[in-house]
Amino acid sequence: MYPNGYKEYQANLAPLTLFPTPFPRIEFEKAKSIATAYNKLYANIVSQHQWLLDAVRSLSEFDTTFTGKLYQCYLEAEKRGIVQPVALGLVRSDYMYDTVSKVIKQVEYNTVSVSFAGISREVGKLHKFLNDSGLYTKSGEKYYGEDGLIVSDAADGLARGLREAVSYYERTHSSPGKTIVLFVVQPNERNAFDQRHIEYSLFEKFGIVSKRIELPDVTASVKVDNQTRKLFYQDREVSVVYYRSAYGPGEFTKKETWDCRILLESTLAIKCPSLLVQLSGAKKIQQLLTSTAILDKFLPTDEKKADLVSTFCKIYPLDDSEDATIAKKLAFEKPENFVLKPQREGGGNNIYKEEIPGFLKSIPEKDWAGFILMELIHPPVAKNVMLRDGELLRSGTVSELGVYGSFLFNEKTGKIIHNEYQGHLLRSKISSSNEGGVAAGYGCVDSLYLI
Ligand code: ADP
Ligand code: MG
Ligand code: MG
Repeated sequence: MYPNGYKEYQANLAPLTLFPTPFPRIEFEKAKSIATAYNKLYANIVSQHQWLLDAVRSLSEFDTTFTGKLYQCYLEAEKRGIVQPVALGLVRSDYMYDTVSKVIKQVEYNTVSVSFAGISREVGKLHKFLNDSGLYTKSGEKYYGEDGLIVSDAADGLARGLREAVSYYERTHSSPGKTIVLFVVQPNERNAFDQRHIEYSLFEKFGIVSKRIELPDVTASVKVDNQTRKLFYQDREVSVVYYRSAYGPGEFTKKETWDCRILLESTLAIKCPSLLVQLSGAKKIQQLLTSTAILDKFLPTDEKKADLVSTFCKIYPLDDSEDATIAKKLAFEKPENFVLKPQREGGGNNIYKEEIPGFLKSIPEKDWAGFILMELIHPPVAKNVMLRDGELLRSGTVSELGVYGSFLFNEKTGKIIHNEYQGHLLRSKISSSNEGGVAAGYGCVDSLYLI
């Protein structure tokens, strides 16, 4: 037994690679340069939210366990009154370099609980240390040139995003230095060390204190002022609710947990993300955005629009629309070119290639509408050594670049108060594995060597 009644804890080392992975510099720069355009696009989707709500309402018929529940939560929170129109997005847009088109293609845009900002910096520092101290070569020389090996600033980046929201809240509703950030985490959180980097950065750089709470404990542990709707935790006023939880149906096995989410949504604290921002990250929305007409509605002009569009993959709906007719044929005739995705986060949920026809046949055709059919990206295979669970594995690897961003905006007026690129992540997995999530047990945290 440890102090404070903690039971014995065991820590697992996050899986990582021993070497950085080469990545085309020009494509990395492009991914960085379109980060704020993507954020603007999603801020616009949320602020013109009737379209989003309509899309989510029809989705919720096919995905009653999660998207539908989030939508119901939003309706319930709205009934109680959403008093804070300003929302924070801490997001990560994920890409793979595609060897066929020779450009990066977007895997997905994550709007809730994006992870590995902290660990990506540490792995970058590790690779830089190994290189600078000559440990990669027998002669003690550096193996990688100086300017190609870059360390991600994402932990400080996400802290900067949170600071923007804290400052805004304190300017409008409180006074400087008076409030805290509430990290809402999962029970038995496995990724706490990654989150701690953000917590420490918030405090060291900006003097902002944060507290951690488990999602199911919220209702019993917080106080909400009836009049002002201000949120308090341990008698401290909370300016920002930062979810590192609430992204999967497994977390909401009890009605009380959904009530916690609704309660927080209807307080004056700024939510990261709000329910609408979270819902905008649905894979169905990513599919709908590949239609030029829909994209033009939410991002009529932007100097980076062409670059942004160049990252789109072909994604098909499987509903009763015209586009779905061809998709339903392709899914059975050429499944090897596709991945089938439900509206889920956190890895381990997709159906790949040859498994698609059998899976589709196993469910009623009306339920196919809850999925999207996405063309596979073909990343290059590199060589690396992975360290996982104390064992070394030499393998061919494929990599996924994550680009972090933060944006603070008014969901009612669409006014963007802050919008920035906030660092990067590289994850690599065994080249024969379809999935890539690190926490889900498929991938390793890696770093970039720009070529
Ligand atoms: P999640 O939200 O669960 O992370 P993703 O859309 O990121 O879902 O899919 C999980 C993993 O599946 C990705 O990390 C990637 O390795 C793989 N993947 C997803 N889409 C594609 C694609 N179009 N081409 C190749 N691999 C993909
Ligand atoms: Mg995701
Ligand atoms: Mg993903």
